[in-house]
Amino acid sequence: MCGIIGYIGKQEAFPVLISGLKRMEYRGYDSFGFCIHDNENGTTTFKKVGKISAADQVLGDMKVSGNMGHAHTRWATHGGVTEANAHPHLDCKGSISVVHNGIVENYKELKKELEAEGHTFISQTDTEVLAHLIEKFFDGNLEQAVKKAVGRVRGTYGIVVLSKDDPNKIVAARSGSPLLIGIGEDEYLVASDPAAVVANTKKVVYLNEGEIATLTPDNYSIYTEREPQEIDWNVEDVEMGKYPHFMLKEIMEQPESLRNSLRGRLVPDEGKAKLGGLMPIEERLRDIERIYVIACGTARYAALTAEYMLEEYAGITAKVDAASEFRYRKSTIDRNCAMLAISQSGETADTLAAIREAKSKGVLTIGVTNAVESSQARETDAGVYNHAGPEIGVASTKAFTSQLAVLALLSLYLGRQRQLSLVMGQRIANELIRIPDLVQKALECEPQVRELAAKYKDCGNMLFMGRKYNYPTAMEGALKMKELSYIHAEGLASGELKHGPLALVEDGFPVVAICPSDSVYEKNVSNIMELKARRARILAVATEGNEDIAGIADEVIYIPKTLEMLTPIVAVVPLQLLAYHVALARGCDIDKPRNLAKSVTVE
Ligand code: GLU
Repeated sequence: MCGIIGYIGKQEAFPVLISGLKRMEYRGYDSFGFCIHDNENGTTTFKKVGKISAADQVLGDMKVSGNMGHAHTRWATHGGVTEANAHPHLDCKGSISVVHNGIVENYKELKKELEAEGHTFISQTDTEVLAHLIEKFFDGNLEQAVKKAVGRVRGTYGIVVLSKDDPNKIVAARSGSPLLIGIGEDEYLVASDPAAVVANTKKVVYLNEGEIATLTPDNYSIYTEREPQEIDWNVEDVEMGKYPHFMLKEIMEQPESLRNSLRGRLVPDEGKAKLGGLMPIEERLRDIERIYVIACGTARYAALTAEYMLEEYAGITAKVDAASEFRYRKSTIDRNCAMLAISQSGETADTLAAIREAKSKGVLTIGVTNAVESSQARETDAGVYNHAGPEIGVASTKAFTSQLAVLALLSLYLGRQRQLSLVMGQRIANELIRIPDLVQKALECEPQVRELAAKYKDCGNMLFMGRKYNYPTAMEGALKMKELSYIHAEGLASGELKHGPLALVEDGFPVVAICPSDSVYEKNVSNIMELKARRARILAVATEGNEDIAGIADEVIYIPKTLEMLTPIVAVVPLQLLAYHVALARGCDIDKPRNLAKSVTVE
């Protein structure tokens, strides 16, 4: 949520900052701004409402010279989407400039105090208090002022600060919001995300919680020294290439991202999963009786699928909670229980808070994340990476399927530590090996889905339904539809229809029924018949070879057959494509749905 970047070095800062912002725009896109400092021409500050990707017109042939600066793409939390509220925010003298990702929770009391001391505020944001607080403590040394200022702040921040009165330096600080330093040749960058720096350097240092860093044209320093690491992303990973949208690129990449998630992690002969990240806690995991899974959004639907997998194959009782709910619930977790946290970015604020709460009670924490070195990866006791590559589209696709694959691996791992038989373990392992090819096959439905989208694009409402493993798939399908196309959609357990939602159904009401040939197929068909009796229009997602369903549903999309626990990985593909094509037909902004942003770093 929100992207920040700072640059100091020998190049012109302007193009580096603008292209970095464009690569991070998925983190927030309601407005943007930058501040660039030039020793001869002074400082240029610019802010604009709207998306940075559409800014070429606004920026036109603008040339701003200067070798240091910072920039921000905003996802508003406090204060409307206006130019005044866009970042950077300045102090009273216009000397100190701050870009911020996060929320200053005690901003009201700080603002009152600063106003009483004579500071004048010009925005409604929480962020502006940071600029004035730093001003209050500034006595010629920017690091010291930042250190004192953040000491007064409650909430979360990743900040990048410049001052005309302590020039040739950038100061960055983080608590709760991610920041990394990019180490280039004669240049240093600081950003929320590797995407912003990867065109300049792959050598990075991730800032730890509470750290403050100073960047100068020739060096950088952090309170705690450590070795830089290599990021495993390429520039192509964060660019669209031949695709019109990141979302389509990421849907199409799924066979490859799944291969990467599974690579080296299966021992089919032994029917086992090999998860290096869990080795340090292997013995502790044998004693775990229950798993408390926490996640938000799409990751929560992966968690709900894992609940079925863990119970059926690992024999472990699992409970799923939205991380935002777990935070404020009286907790029943104890030391026989492990917490499993799932977050694509590894920076989801609610999920991190839940992990910290569990850790404080001595509970073993395990993470599943796509972001190496993210806060989640560093704070959990052990974990498994998705290795799906960067996901830029705000609506999650390849991260979801890779989460499902990793959760299947985890269920296999835990199952084989317990009662799961060799034969069943071998079946799961062998089927997981086939999954990337089955997803490739499922993608072949795209031309059909494109045609169907033209028929569904004017719907006001839709239902998605499924049972057992595909109940969460139905919820994910509905979420994709609403977040991309703004059509109201709900995902239901098929058996719940007659307990209320059936009242919505009238002639032509669209229902997407996920009904693969599995243990609950016949039950699903009965529910479809109940809908048909009320003249609903049924789009079925069914297993190839099932000819009967064509006589029942109005339309059928076929998916390849796989093991029941893995069907969601294949069944979600047409639902992702349907949401994509419906949104496209409705002229929606696919990679940047309104009001949303990727990587939800605020509560
Ligand atoms: N709380 C700040 C604001 O609303 C920063 C939000 C962000 O992280 O983009 O401006």
